[in-house]
Amino acid sequence: MKTICAWCNKVLTEGDTPDGMLSHGICPDCLEELIRTPEISLADFLNSIEFPVLVTDHSLAVQQMNRTAERILGGSVGESVGLKFGAAIECLHAGMPGGCGGNESCEGCVLRKTIKETYEDGQPRYGVYSEHELMPANGARARRFRFSATKAGEAVLLAIEEVREVPLAT
Ligand SMILES: [Zn+2]
Repeated sequence: MKTICAWCNKVLTEGDTPDGMLSHGICPDCLEELIRTPEISLADFLNSIEFPVLVTDHSLAVQQMNRTAERILGGSVGESVGLKFGAAIECLHAGMPGGCGGNESCEGCVLRKTIKETYEDGQPRYGVYSEHELMPANGARARRFRFSATKAGEAVLLAIEEVREVPLAT
């Protein structure tokens, strides 16, 4: 899958790109600028891009998200900051005893694994899929997320590239 920088559109990795299957990351130059320019607030930087981006720490707690992420996930920055990522996307397991990451099924969570690995080795990951059954408040349903993860300082930037409603796994 072809990957471009979400900020400057520089090509990060070449690859076959079926229709609409473009992945987004952040290039080293933009990452450096973000880290070295304290007068640009993270919120402003995130809001300057048009697709949903969240920032999490290594424990998967959401530190910041942009307006597009708020709109797509149906939360608000105020409500989501400090929540585990699973709670922000309304993952079923985040609402169970133990919370996000505290259930047996969380061991196979692609999202969780990807954020942890990105944090540990600093290597970006693009075009990753993770499927989550959602909290049943609005009826049983599941969503599949496609995202990229890029380490920035002590945080991980998650760009959500696609959100699709999918049939519940049985
Ligand atoms: Zn860039």
